[in-house]
Amino acid sequence: MRVLYASTEIYPALKTGGLADVNGALPCALADAGADVRLLLPAFPAIAQAAGVLRTVISLPSPFGGATVRVARGELAGVPAYLIEAGELFARAGNPYVDENGRDWPDNHLRFALLGWAAARFADGTIDDWRPDIVHSHDWHTGLAPAYLAARGGDRPATVFTVHNLGYQGDFPAETFRDLALPANFFSIYGLEFYGRVNFMKAGLHYADRITTVSPTYAAEIQTPEFGFGMDGLLRSRAAVLSGILNGVDRDVWNPATDPAIAVHYGEKSLQGKARCRTALRKACGLAVSDGPLFGVVSRLTSQKGLDLVLAALPALVAAGGQVVLLGAGEAELEAGFLAAATQFAGAVSVRIGYDEEFAHRIFAGSDVILVPSRFEPCGLTQMYALAYGALPLVRRVGGLVDTVGDADAQNLAAGTATGFVFADADVKSLQAALNRAFLLWRQPRQWSLLRRTAMQQDFSWAPAARSYLALYRELRPLA
Ligand code: ADP
Repeated sequence: MRVLYASTEIYPALKTGGLADVNGALPCALADAGADVRLLLPAFPAIAQAAGVLRTVISLPSPFGGATVRVARGELAGVPAYLIEAGELFARAGNPYVDENGRDWPDNHLRFALLGWAAARFADGTIDDWRPDIVHSHDWHTGLAPAYLAARGGDRPATVFTVHNLGYQGDFPAETFRDLALPANFFSIYGLEFYGRVNFMKAGLHYADRITTVSPTYAAEIQTPEFGFGMDGLLRSRAAVLSGILNGVDRDVWNPATDPAIAVHYGEKSLQGKARCRTALRKACGLAVSDGPLFGVVSRLTSQKGLDLVLAALPALVAAGGQVVLLGAGEAELEAGFLAAATQFAGAVSVRIGYDEEFAHRIFAGSDVILVPSRFEPCGLTQMYALAYGALPLVRRVGGLVDTVGDADAQNLAAGTATGFVFADADVKSLQAALNRAFLLWRQPRQWSLLRRTAMQQDFSWAPAARSYLALYRELRPLA
């Protein structure tokens, strides 16, 4: 099974969120499961540097009339990787999608159209003498890959398109369509047009042979107006080819027994180390010595993540004897709000604005609870990392959070399946009620230890996900 896996970011070389973690682990798990999987990524400087010695496999004229497109081969995450270079298009340091002021690059439609086009170009088998059976593309940046393959028609690889976050769609003015070198009839409601504009996400959803998303619950949710971002009708019409496959945890990276970033190693049966990680975290963050629970947050600061609710609940949380450590970056208003709270509640609330991979590990290790109050959450990795590190996730009942956290309700407590705290509504009252339950349980150390042990025993490895993707590829192979 030959699989071309096309995406934009990959841990540890280049990461803006969970997509990079997935891309750093899933291809390797697919290879372990027997697939000949090869990555296709833009040659962003950080990625080119991480891919080792690059060998040019082909130079192609640009379909858009720009600089020559060079495809070079290296290796990333233990699998072969093809990187595409095209003049200035990808040779930009920093964030792959926005400039240093946080604005989308004005030529993003061309940059990511080229990525999709390059994926489709593998179909004729002339690049590195290798023809994929499956082109598996991820999120809007690669949404045009199925469109370019559909435009080729005839004998072509089958296409799988995975939605990691429907909230980002790659939506561009209608005029950009003429730059994309696609047949005119593709700009239609039965194509990639969305309310008079070009939409790369819609292209993926419309043209792919199979659509997957990153949890079973999110697969159902995105077919509803509440979570569909306008695509729910299209997704309902494609329900027969849509499924959810839960993400996993890369235990080589996220494991408190081996993690080089944390103060002391620990495991489910040797939890003294966790207490020392908590003490170290408090000290590093200037938090007071306390016997109350320590709540951690590691997150992009966007409205998706619901952290405005945490901000509103902070005074009560601190009054109840809790402390908070937050690491995040994003919307200015949220950054300012948390920084003000850190001043107001000095010693009880610590806030670090920025991106810091190692500090994130220390927060998971040192926290008693990890807060993930998302408005929507396709899968969510942070609550799974929290479980692995024995920090109980306190999450909203949406998306992958539903599929990974067992609420400490009477039934789960009795059955021994409770691993955290789940609340229903995206409002402060609902969050507050879950926080109150967490404080109550904190005062029952034996119960707390029981939950923590169950949490740490959860096994969200990548192997089952890889098997599910492989089963899906096999179903499609007749098309390939
Ligand atoms: P999303 O992809 O929506 O941001 P996920 O929970 O799927 O959410 O993945 C987030 C990933 O990004 C996790 O690996 C998390 O640890 C990491 N992360 C988020 N914000 C930061 C930050 N400020 N510093 C370090 N890591 C972060």
